[in-house]
Amino acid sequence: MTDFVFAPPATVSVPVHGSAQRFAVNRVYCVGRNYEDHAKEMGFTGREPPFFFLKPANAIIAVDAGSVGKMAYPSLTKNLHHEIELVVAIGKGGKNISATNAHEHVWGYAVGLDMTRRDLQGEMKKQGRPWCIGKGFDESAPIGPIVPKAQAAGAEQAAISVTVNGQPRQSSNVAKLIWNVAETIEHLSAAWELQAGDLIFTGTPEGVAAVVAGDEMLGRVDGLPDLRVLVV
Ligand code: MN
Repeated sequence: MTDFVFAPPATVSVPVHGSAQRFAVNRVYCVGRNYEDHAKEMGFTGREPPFFFLKPANAIIAVDAGSVGKMAYPSLTKNLHHEIELVVAIGKGGKNISATNAHEHVWGYAVGLDMTRRDLQGEMKKQGRPWCIGKGFDESAPIGPIVPKAQAAGAEQAAISVTVNGQPRQSSNVAKLIWNVAETIEHLSAAWELQAGDLIFTGTPEGVAAVVAGDEMLGRVDGLPDLRVLVV
C-alpha cells in the first residue's frame, strides 16, 4: 500500500440516474460562448472557433434526483451568475476523435450549472488574465444525475432552461449550440487526450443573470432529471 503523507482526497462522483452506481469525475471541461445569442450578450459575434476552460473536479456539487442541492454564496463576488448547460459525460477516452466517431465516447448526459463570479471574470478578461477565479471556484459546478446515453436519446435537441424562484431566466434549445457535442469532442480531443470520467459543460444560452442567497434555481434539459440548487 502506498504510504501517502496525508489521506488522499475522496473521489468526486455524480449519481447515475436509475442506478446505485456512481460516475467518478476526472476533469471538468467547459466550452465558452457556444450559443450565438449568449456570445452576443457578452459582446461577441458568435462566430469564433470553440475555446475551453476547466473547473477542478472538486467544484462539483452532485445533486440527487428530487433533492435540492445547496451552494454557499461564494466569496469575493457581488455578481454571481447562473449558466444553465447540458453536460456530456465521457465514458471512453481518446485523442483526435473525429466528430463522426464522437458519440462512441459519450457515456451519458446531465443538467449542470456553470456558476460564474461574473465581476471577477470580467476583471480578468479586461486584464488579459486567466478566468480561474471567475469560473473555477469552490462549488461552482452543481450537476444533476447522469443519464446513460441510451436513455437520453433526445438530449442534444432538447429544450434547456433555468428559472429562479419560479421566474424564467434562460430558455433555449440545445440544438442551437454553435459547436454541437460531436464537434466539441473533436476540438477538445485535439487539444487534450480525453479520459473516462471527464465531463464537458457544453455552454450556455442567452439570459445569464445574477442570483443571491435565498434564491432557488431550477435547471432543466427535457428528458433529463431536473437540477434544483438553493443558494445559501
Ligand atoms: Mn458556461
